[in-house]
Amino acid sequence: FDDRDGFIWFDGALTPWREAKIHVLTHGLHYASSVFEGERAYNGRVFKLTEHSERLVNSARLLGFTIPYSVAEIDEATRQTVAAMGFADAYVRPVAWRGSEVMGVSAQASRIHLAIAVWQWPSYFSAEAKMKGIRLAWAPWRRPSPDSAPTASKAAGLYMIGTLSKHQAEAEGFQDALMLDHRGFLAEATGANLFLVIDGALHTPIPDGFLDGITRRTIMDLARARGLDVIERRIPPEDLAKAQEVFLVGTAAEVTPVGEIGEHRFTPGPVCAAMIADYDALVRTAGA
Ligand code: PMP
Repeated sequence: FDDRDGFIWFDGALTPWREAKIHVLTHGLHYASSVFEGERAYNGRVFKLTEHSERLVNSARLLGFTIPYSVAEIDEATRQTVAAMGFADAYVRPVAWRGSEVMGVSAQASRIHLAIAVWQWPSYFSAEAKMKGIRLAWAPWRRPSPDSAPTASKAAGLYMIGTLSKHQAEAEGFQDALMLDHRGFLAEATGANLFLVIDGALHTPIPDGFLDGITRRTIMDLARARGLDVIERRIPPEDLAKAQEVFLVGTAAEVTPVGEIGEHRFTPGPVCAAMIADYDALVRTAGA
């Protein structure tokens, strides 16, 4: 990933892609003092850009550090990077971290860095392939409780169990893993939130121990605009037996129907198709 043409916005300026490097004694690398975002640009405009920049600033605050740029400055730097890379449709990755000035658990005086990279990351699946539904394994790890970790932060450290879970799922021939929360209720996949369709209503877990995704909130609005009931609740895994359709949502995943979770089988149907269509229409008309 580090050997390509283009520019990465790095601490205030566009830097040639191959030169955007950090020292091995970076605190963020050793102690996970790092937060990031995942955004998508459609037709050259980043969907919900300011919400993402705000979440980045808030994620850092939850880890006890302050990004030395305002939300407006981060928005502007993001637009500049998307324009410099020249892609109409692209994935955007801002990341902020503690630098290499101090080693040790305590690193109050470390410098805070910010970088923004943009690359092409097409939809995982075509609309037709999506409607077949992906296969999810049960994750071997649970999401930690909010009193065990700052779970509202999009913190790099919280992805350790996500990578372990997804690697295990892939090794067993699945596309992703579904994680339970610390109490054993349904939580989310390793990088996307979960919706169940039960008798025409959308059911989604309360995000009290994992990321309240921007796509999740967008889908809830789109579903209500279609007149569907949206119910946020604690969902026990047994309720998967009651679901006619299941899908994942996230910036990278967009709306991805699920065909299988463990012993449960689902057939993507009209609600999945409607949410895919509505989300696609919205992101292409509502960029910032
Ligand atoms: N959960 C996790 C763990 C994620 O990484 C993501 C992707 N950022 C999401 C949920 C969905 O969040 P969003 O819709 O804001 O991309």
